Order: sequence, then structure tokens, then C-alpha cells
Amino acid sequence: MNESKDFLRVIVEEDLKAHKYNEVVTRFPPEPNGFPHIGHAKSIAINFGIARDYKGHCNLRMDDTNPTTEDTRYVEALKDAVEWLGFKWEGNVRYTSDYFPQIYAYAIELVKMGKAYVDSLSEEEIREYRGTVTEPGRRSVYAERSVEENLDLLERMKNGEFKDGEHVLRAKIDMSAANMKMRDPLLYRIRHAHHYRTGDAWHIYPMYDFGHCLSDYIEGVSHSICTLEFENNRDIYDWVLDTLGLTSPRPYQHEFARLGINYTVMSKRKLLELVNEKYVSGWDDPRMPTIAGLRRRGYTPESILNFCHQIGVAKANSMVDVAQLEFCIRDDLNTKVPRVMCVLDPLKVTIENYEGSEELDASYYPDDVPKEGSRKLPFSREIYIEREDFSENPPAGFYRLTPEQPVRLKHAYIITCKEVIKDAQGNITEIIATYRPDSKSGSDTSGIKVKSAIQWVDAARAKTVEVRLYDRLYACEAPEGVEDLNPGSLKVIKNALIEPAVITEKPDVRFQFERQGYFYADPIDYTDEAPVFNKIVGLKDSWNKKAKGEENTAKSERKAVEKKVQIDGEVAPMNEVEQARFNKYSSEEYGLNNEVANTLARDEKLARFYEEILTQLQHKNNKKFLNMLANIVVNDVARELKKDIERLSFTTTQILSLAYMIHYGQISTTIAKTVFEEMVKTGEHPKAIVDSKGLQQISDPSLILPIIDDVMAKNPDNVEKYRAGNTKLFGFFVGQVLKATGGKANPQVVNDLVAQKLQ
Ligand code: ATP
Ligand code: MG
Repeated sequence: MNESKDFLRVIVEEDLKAHKYNEVVTRFPPEPNGFPHIGHAKSIAINFGIARDYKGHCNLRMDDTNPTTEDTRYVEALKDAVEWLGFKWEGNVRYTSDYFPQIYAYAIELVKMGKAYVDSLSEEEIREYRGTVTEPGRRSVYAERSVEENLDLLERMKNGEFKDGEHVLRAKIDMSAANMKMRDPLLYRIRHAHHYRTGDAWHIYPMYDFGHCLSDYIEGVSHSICTLEFENNRDIYDWVLDTLGLTSPRPYQHEFARLGINYTVMSKRKLLELVNEKYVSGWDDPRMPTIAGLRRRGYTPESILNFCHQIGVAKANSMVDVAQLEFCIRDDLNTKVPRVMCVLDPLKVTIENYEGSEELDASYYPDDVPKEGSRKLPFSREIYIEREDFSENPPAGFYRLTPEQPVRLKHAYIITCKEVIKDAQGNITEIIATYRPDSKSGSDTSGIKVKSAIQWVDAARAKTVEVRLYDRLYACEAPEGVEDLNPGSLKVIKNALIEPAVITEKPDVRFQFERQGYFYADPIDYTDEAPVFNKIVGLKDSWNKKAKGEENTAKSERKAVEKKVQIDGEVAPMNEVEQARFNKYSSEEYGLNNEVANTLARDEKLARFYEEILTQLQHKNNKKFLNMLANIVVNDVARELKKDIERLSFTTTQILSLAYMIHYGQISTTIAKTVFEEMVKTGEHPKAIVDSKGLQQISDPSLILPIIDDVMAKNPDNVEKYRAGNTKLFGFFVGQVLKATGGKANPQVVNDLVAQKLQ
């Protein structure tokens, strides 16, 4: 069982040791007024988990004392959630409403003991009489009513003779108690409302503080576990049970910290608003933090339970990073699901020297996943690759297909771009390529070294699928309301292409789409004729950088915008001026890639800034340099411009110098980011910053080689794996070396040297 026990389990064990109880009985007591969310999952895992670990039992109880908000639909959702998480409640589902007669009988007992009275003050007066934290309250004159009068009034309240709010039943405790909750708390209130289970039988409903402890007692609960905000209610909990003289087994309340997750709202009221106002498609919208939503998104029960285990049980409230939940699902699926290929934004590639067709053998699982299974991949002359896997003017570090750089088609051959075909607007419509017959995966004798392998599908045999790309529902870390919603939380791609085996063989319902993320066949909308896949989570945490600072936010936002343009074509069309700018920047003369040209075209201020730099250039014919410069403008300068154009702390000349320093290898692109940040802060010239901080790029192999040796010595396992064929680890080594130099090493040199060393 658990390596280290949480404080609740410690309490349970002590109680068992002291023979306080014969059996551990817990309960999960939700109010059926909404769908359960990930916070409830924590409570479920604790209550059912403790009962299981100590061979007791756990009840599922609907805490349904509020007639106006409750519904059987929510009862069903709660039952579903508990079962889906893998737990079983004891016997039937319990309902506090089933205990109404017993709870009422206890109320009469308290009245008879002189411990409760009917008060007839207005709601406002009650509040006023209660006093404040620093001042004691005053008792209502009605507290002096006789037992007979109280019994009579209570009976008539129950029978519906009074209006809402006319009377309440209160405990007679202490109007000057330090704990405000003990100042004659309300036990019953009048409510003329239809209850989803008891109908119109009752006109009074017990308050939480009265109903909850008695329900626990009635069910023989030993440990009544609730969240921290009920700490002050514990005194009433005990007062009711003790005053009524209810004895063994007598429940005690214990509080733990409720779960809060960033980028998420967990209040049922706010979730209900999202549903009612149609910000989401329903309680089970895959973006919702509800169990039903997570389930439809593709989360597994294991991943959620593992998350609950990881966050642990504590007594202090804290905020958990949503990345941790995302980590848990990734971690779970990584060793379970087949890898397949899907192309979201297809770009046609015609392989001109390929004739006929063939079926390639491809394992569903990588070597490090101990599962068997493979499929046949149809391959022929016409295929589709991801549009973003080709770049005519690649930025530094672009390892995929370019006019100069061949690439491997995963599980297939190495191809080389021969020709780029464009339409009248300059959009790339097709690539003409050639393949190397001797480069087939598994029997490659071509001797060609490629930097990456990309996904693809056969044009003739691929199936069209709808892919729903889900992202976090909120864009801000501590969302308050709908104004914080992430406008890009759902993108629908209607015409993605997937390899046929996914549909015809159905090796699973969850998949890793190579290089894209984890996906789930939508349990409701999927059919073989019109398949729909939900994105569960990406392969890595794309929000990590974003969370670290707003500079990165701007960049990811921009990226998101660019992506949108590329993938959906949903963005507003350009006006004439913008279109003209776009044509200019993407023309031969400027040669900017589409994404960058698009951003400049749509942002006049940015375009002006870029133009001003260009006027200072002697020669404008180095495409690579122009693109790199434009990238700095579009990413870094754009962010500052957005803040305030009047107060830019750097000049166009300084940006040009920065670009030159990158171009001539004086600093790496990583270091350039640091330098830029410094320029923003201090307004100093980039050269001065580089000199004073010693940020010069390290390109000398004699300085880099010892670091590589060191990294390899520290990671012998990975070296072995790499040499055994796991070439994916290449990036790991490069990353480690770059990190060890604080980003100062020249990445190209590191790449080359690492490749040499690992051979
Ligand atoms: P809300 O305030 O959003 O309506 P709630 O706490 O009122 O939520 P209930 O249905 O009363 O919701 O909760 C059922 C059980 O789940 C309670 O024991 C409660 O303490 C627990 N619970 C609810 N939210 C969380 C959370 N975020 N973390 C841990 N436990 C929670
Ligand atoms: Mg509640």
C-alpha cells in the first residue's frame, strides 16, 4: 500500500488501534446540483480509497437538502463518475432526503430539551443580531418561547402554514461564542419548492449543519471527511451529536485541503454558467474539468487516480499546476497506445521516380514500449505530408523537408524536394520529390543522414477524419469568469487524413498521432463513416514557457494565430493593403516565409518597423538573413510594440546589430533572446551587453568536446540506446550540451560534434 501515509490514514489507523470503531465507514456526499469535477475526484479517491485500504466501506450519498437546484440527471452523473473511477459504493445510493423524517424527529427532540427554538426575526435581523467577530451577538426575543409553542410552530412550519422566511428553527447555543457558527445556528428553514425526490411532501428543509452530521450518524459513518472550509462547522457537528447523546459508533469530522488547479474553474456555479450560456457544448464538453468532460476528452481513470495520488492529501490549501494533470495522462498513455500517422494540414507530395505501390510493415509501438502489434502502411507515388513539415526558407534549426534538406518519411523512405509548385497567390500546392530506393526503413543502405522523420499518409488510401484540437479552456492562470476564456480552446479540422488501419483495424480507441499528441475516438460522435478524434493532450507541455513570462505569451499567441491561419483558414481575410504587403513580403525579392509575411502584412506598425530596418541594409539579397531579421521583428519586437510604441527602449539600428551578431555567429539565437531582454530593460546597445556579460557564442570545438564527453559519461544508458537505434535521443544530447554551456554554444557546431561523437 502507501509508502508514506497521509494524515487522514494516520488518524484512521490510530482509531482502529484504539478500537474506536469495528469498521471504517466513509461516505462521499455530493450535492446533486451539477456534474462532478476533478476536485470531486480527489474527494472520491480519498473516501473510497481509505475504505478500501482499511477493508471498510464507503457510501455514496446525495446531499440533497436544497430543493431548487437539484436534479436526477446530476445523480446519474455522480454515479457514473464514481463507477468510472473504479469504485463501488456500499449497498444502494443513499439520499439525505430519505432521512428527512428521522432528521425532523431529532429536531423535535432538541426542542423538547430546550435546545432549539423557532425564531421569527427577519433574515436581515438575524444577521444583525449575530454580531461580529469582535462583538458578541444578541439573542432574539423569540428564544424565550415555550417548548409547547416551539413544537406547535415547528409542526405548522412543516405543514406549510407559513411563508418562506417567516420562521426558522435555531439551535440554542451561545450568542457570544468566538466561533460565529455557534451563535444559535439555523437548523431548518421554510422552502415552498418542489423537491426532485420528495416532491411537495416537505415545506421545511434541514440546513447543512443539521442534516450532514445526522446523516453521517444514521449511516454509521466513522470518519466524515470534508474540505477545509468546513473547519468552523466542526463545532456544530459535534454539538448536535453530543447534545442528542448519540453514541458509538459516532462519526467525527476531519478536514483536508480542497483541490485547486490553475487555468481551471472548479466552482459548480461557474461550470453551470459555461453550460447554460453555451460557452461549451455541455457538461461533458472535452474542455470541461468535469469527470464527464475529461472522460470524453480521452483521459483514463488511471491517469486521474494517479494524479490524485501524486497531489496527495494535505491540510493546507494550494494550487496545483494543470500541467501535472496533463503529465499524468501523457505518462499513462505513453506505454499503452499505438503510434499511428495522421496529417492535419495536408500538403501533396508527388514522388516522381516511384512506380506502383507497396505495403510497408510498421510497428504500432516504439521499441521502448513492451507491446506487440503492427500494421501495413500503403505507399505509392502520391502522398500527403504536414504542410508545416516543409519550409522553403527554413529558420535555423528546421530539421524537416526543405529544398536543400532531405527528410525521412517515417517507416518508409528518404525523399528530396525537387520542385515547389505554387498557385497564383504564391501558396504552395504541391511538392515534386524523388525518393531513394535504397533508404527503406529497416534496410537503409543509402548512407544519407537526415535530421528527422516526418509523418505522412498515402493519398489514395488515407481516410478523411475530423480532428478536434482541444486546448486549455482558460487562457489565464487564475481565471475569474468567462472573460478569461481561451478563444483558441477548440479548433476543428474537418479534413485531416489518417492512415487506413486506424479505421479498419481499430487497434485501440486512443492513439498517439506521431509528432502531434494523444488522441481519442470521440465516444459519442465517432462513426466509421465519419470518424472524429479528440486531442487529449500534446506530446509535451507547450504552455510551460508561456506560463513563465509574458514575453513568451506574446510569442505563443502569435504562434497560435499563425497556426490558425495555416490550419483552419478561419482568420478574417486580408484587406487590400494587407494583401499587397503580404504579396510583397512573400515575393521572390523579400522571400519571407508565409507565416512571417502574414504577420507583417496584418500589422502595420510592425511592418513599418521592419521597413525602417531594411532602409539601413546595403544588400537585400540574403534570404536567410532577411528571414532571421523578420523573425526577430515578428516575435520579439512585436511583443514590445504591443505594449507601447512611444516608449520602445531600442532602435531599429540596434535590432539590426543584433541580427548581424547572430548572422556572423557571435551569439546563438538562444543568447540573442537574453540580449534582447536586456535591451528592453536597459536600452543598452546589444554589442555592449554581449561584451559586458560575456555572452559570446562558443564555436571552438576544443571547448565544446569536453562538455560532450561529460554529458555522455553521465548518461551511458542513453548512449547505448542511441547506438542501438533510438536516434530520437539525438536531441537529448544536443540539449544537454547546450544547457551545460548556458545556451552559449553554437548549436550547429554542437550538432555536428555530437553526431561525430555518438557514432
Ligand atoms: P461547489 O462549491 O463547487 O458547489 P461543493 O464543495 O459544494 O462544490 P459538493 O457536491 O458539496 O460540492 O461536494 C461533494 C464532496 O466533494 C464534498 O465532500 C466536498 O468537500 C468535495 N469537494 C468538492 N470540491 C472539491 C475540491 N475542489 N477538492 C476536493 N474535494 C472537493
Ligand atoms: Mg457543497
